[in-house]
Amino acid sequence: MRPFSRPIHVTRPLLPDLSSYAARLEAVWKSGWLSNAGRQHDELERRLAEHLRLERLSLLCNGTMALIVAARALELRGEIITTPFTFAATPQSLSWSGCEPVFADIDPDTMTLSPEAVEAAVTPRTGGILAVHVFGCPCDFRGLDAVARRYGLPIVYDGAHAFGLEVDGDPVGVHGDVTMFSFHATKLFHTAEGGALTASSVAVQRRIERLRNFCIEGEERVSGIGTNGKMNELQAALGIEVLAMMERERARRLEIAAAYRRLLEDIPGLRLPRAPAGVTRPSLQYFAVRVSEKGFGMSRDELYDALKAYNIFTRKYFHPLCSTFAGYRDMPSSSSANLPVANAVARECLTLPFYGELRVEYAERIAHIIRELAGSRCP
Ligand SMILES: *Cc1c(COP(=O)(O)O)cnc(C)c1O
Repeated sequence: MRPFSRPIHVTRPLLPDLSSYAARLEAVWKSGWLSNAGRQHDELERRLAEHLRLERLSLLCNGTMALIVAARALELRGEIITTPFTFAATPQSLSWSGCEPVFADIDPDTMTLSPEAVEAAVTPRTGGILAVHVFGCPCDFRGLDAVARRYGLPIVYDGAHAFGLEVDGDPVGVHGDVTMFSFHATKLFHTAEGGALTASSVAVQRRIERLRNFCIEGEERVSGIGTNGKMNELQAALGIEVLAMMERERARRLEIAAAYRRLLEDIPGLRLPRAPAGVTRPSLQYFAVRVSEKGFGMSRDELYDALKAYNIFTRKYFHPLCSTFAGYRDMPSSSSANLPVANAVARECLTLPFYGELRVEYAERIAHIIRELAGSRCP
């Protein structure tokens, strides 16, 4: 197979037709209203709640700020048990909230936080759990709920990869106390930068909505210490246009995933993403494969480099683990002895190019190149 003549990246942001975005901007211009719960904001909030079938959904300026606001709304304190196999935002939002992240190991199949590891990490200082639906694979809700109930801990879910994910017919956001969604440009649904929180109770939702606007409750009343977590009208207008593209984008991604599956499924040492039982609607955020050096004949890092030579730019999500970051690596819970599964998984995962605009022939060519590379190492 020949290399691609132009670089193929792991994703490309969904871009709506510029003229329809411009038409929306014209309305914004006419209104002279650029932020603070404007028309676009309220419309997107309503449409997203409908799209995701969630009763309570509040927009924020980005996913990281959403996590920080969630921590404050739930008054999280002390040690918060979380996964090292995630994006930097997950533990860093805890640190910025005055909490102390404590890493626990993940499940080898789902790559999400292991309830047994969480339970083993509970101490008298534990104040909550922050779990991640990594690569759109739902966490073990039942297992985590049981631990949370046993110790009276709140659960926050980082659903940055879980937009539209449904389990047993329910939207993923119905679980836990709060779920965060990120609308960063690299995410399936996006507003360039943006995020949202869905809360399990009206009281928590009210707190979220106060906190995101400095706890200002009227011209002469500020009821607490909030922050600026507001989504502006330009972001929201973009989101409304992107949301209208969602069904088509999902259909395209399903075709691409099917092409990858068809051509990659029988390669020894290559494990394809598998939706666990119960997933009734997949999230389609990433297509993450796992490379086991023994079976495949080359390591994940070697495959990553080899694909680069073909102009294919995959990503080693989530390597390095958050537990190796400056600021975290000296914590007792960061030791590799505490996180054997996460350390192994972080050496194996590779996310392949996955976005609606990627032509199916290109996905097929990428798969053929991976086949060739696998075969090239056979004796
Ligand atoms: C993208 C992402 C976030 C939030 O990121 P923002 O860029 O602040 O919206 C949080 N957690 C995970 C796992 C993510 O991938």
